[in-house]
Amino acid sequence: MYKLLSGKELSTVLKEEMKQEVAALVANGARPPHLAAILVGSDGASETYVGHKVKMCDQLGFASTLVRLEADTSEEVLLKKIEELNQQEDLDGFIVQLPLPKHINANKVVMAIDPKKDVDGFHPVNVGRMAQNLPSYLPATPYGIVQLLERNGIETSGKECVVVGRSNIVGSPMSILLAQNAAVGNCTVTLCHSRTKDLAFHTKRADILVVALGKAEFITGDMVKEGVVVIDVGITRVKDETRKSGYRLKGDVKFDEVAAKSSFITPVPGGVGPMTVVSLLKNTLKARKGEIEWV
Ligand code: NDP
Repeated sequence: MYKLLSGKELSTVLKEEMKQEVAALVANGARPPHLAAILVGSDGASETYVGHKVKMCDQLGFASTLVRLEADTSEEVLLKKIEELNQQEDLDGFIVQLPLPKHINANKVVMAIDPKKDVDGFHPVNVGRMAQNLPSYLPATPYGIVQLLERNGIETSGKECVVVGRSNIVGSPMSILLAQNAAVGNCTVTLCHSRTKDLAFHTKRADILVVALGKAEFITGDMVKEGVVVIDVGITRVKDETRKSGYRLKGDVKFDEVAAKSSFITPVPGGVGPMTVVSLLKNTLKARKGEIEWV
């Protein structure tokens, strides 16, 4: 029988821990952590994500600022705003919500953020530091997965780990973290992508399988071995007329089939998703406490 790796439950615990830390900071006369988000345009999904972040800041006693810019804002104006936030002393960290409108070069934008305020962990300085196992802000989704494994006591050392998907925000950093000599790490990692030949050959060897490709129910029961630990990152909206919203969320894993062979598995929704926002706030709290040694 599998055990659910509930991000919903763990994120509640982590939120309570952070709430208490922030209350203690404030009780000692310090200002609370402060996170800002820049939203360019009004993409529906981005509005929802940013809304969650602001709401969670409120719940935990963080200060938050939402900077809204019109969809036709020029790259120059956005870069100026970023420089302003880089300099703002009472701001610990900020994010620029992606995706950005097509006329803006997202790489330029990420590069403009001061790495010390880059709580999304996307700046190459943070990515490089992560790759060298130096203190850094970890990207939120991989950081959330590390905490899910750690807090559920899942042994990673010496395990065969297969990561499917090599994006800069999930698959690639996940493969780096799990291969590192660290408490959650020391796996033998295989990183698969769309050019991988015979994906099932690899996934069947996995003790720990992390799937982040964005195709609903792509991984089926015959692609995994008995006892596997499954982390399903995928979130795809599929039509469902029986729902008020008209859709339901599906992971990259065919849940019933794969769960039947798993020792641990994350549900979708309620698995990796809730851990992502919590991890962003954990990075912001780290920034407030000056926990990262930048030397
Ligand atoms: P990307 O689209 O950036 O990357 C997808 C990856 O999957 C690519 O590396 C691609 O390979 C690979 N891939 C695509 N098809 C196949 C295939 N048939 N076999 C093997 N590999 C394949 O996605 P993201 O990493 O941004 O997101 C992945 C999923 O995770 C999405 O559903 C997204 O919504 C979700 N997500 C969830 C989060 C959460 O908080 N729960 C946070 C972030 C994302 P190639 O590089 O060769 O193209």
